[in-house]
Amino acid sequence: MTLNNAQISARVAKHGRVWIPDASIGTQPHTAEYLASAIQDFFSSRLTKIFAITAPRVSLNFVLIDNPDLNAFAGRYNGKTNEYLIGVYRGTFVKLRDYLYDQKREQALRKELTQFAHFEDPLALYSCFAASGYVIFHEFAHIIRGHVDYLNSLSLDDTDLTATGPVQAPLFKDRERYLAECEADTYGGRFSTSLLYHQIEPLAAGRTPAEIEALFEDLIALTAFANQSAFRLMEDVKTAPSILYPAPTTRSGIVNTQLMKGLEDMASRAPHAPPKNLSDHVKRGLKLADELANDAGLKILNLNAQTEGENWIKNDQADVNAFATKLKKFRP
Ligand SMILES: [Zn+2]
Repeated sequence: MTLNNAQISARVAKHGRVWIPDASIGTQPHTAEYLASAIQDFFSSRLTKIFAITAPRVSLNFVLIDNPDLNAFAGRYNGKTNEYLIGVYRGTFVKLRDYLYDQKREQALRKELTQFAHFEDPLALYSCFAASGYVIFHEFAHIIRGHVDYLNSLSLDDTDLTATGPVQAPLFKDRERYLAECEADTYGGRFSTSLLYHQIEPLAAGRTPAEIEALFEDLIALTAFANQSAFRLMEDVKTAPSILYPAPTTRSGIVNTQLMKGLEDMASRAPHAPPKNLSDHVKRGLKLADELANDAGLKILNLNAQTEGENWIKNDQADVNAFATKLKKFRP
């Protein structure tokens, strides 16, 4: 850390003060404090390692913010240095935790994902790591894909890109902001593949290839469930799609498609090959997430996911690719 927490708090004041969760509060059952602390520890070291390889000049502060919303942001807090910041709101952990740590949902997950039947840790723990991991990797993508520096080059004062919440002022021109969010979802989904591999390794120890494949299938479904749950929670706070983001169903489609692509890409390098029919396992997780969200009474926007997805491919995908090419020179 190059700035202390008081200095960071002053720079991100409109979001809230830096929050330091007390990991000792509620390890059993897991509280939001405990989860936030564990997730921050895990991702701090992980992001540091990834930046050391991909962008060695970048210095990152990864902080939690005392704000009750489900949201996160990435930015530079001093345009002249290579210091970047990722902030995740406290509400992200609280809302994910309260939704996922539910006895009925835990039982339903265990009934469907039988490979985890004898696991001591609640499946909610895996789901919380997967869903918050996606949120963090989305912000990471805003930095590494040059969105933050592009914004900086426009000499705008406000260098925050928010992940999910309402935006106070049009930071980018709306269309570019929208394309940046699509790209952050694309890379956020792709990066989160590494988390899935990280989780399978300890689970695979001492098991036969057939058992590992079955575990992998359930873990993919669980990850898709976690991502879909996060989007359903975001959707629940909105009354209409934002012009700055694709509809949550489309975002979920982007993230999970990238998850599958990432698994295919890693197959040749990883010790355990992903199972075949990836999309079947993803679909199983998405279906489960929707059923449980409906049972929980989460609102859903009245949109047809397939039509939305097809329109996105037709209307946006090429523009996202062109935008990424334009921003190449802004990547740190
Ligand atoms: Zn974003």
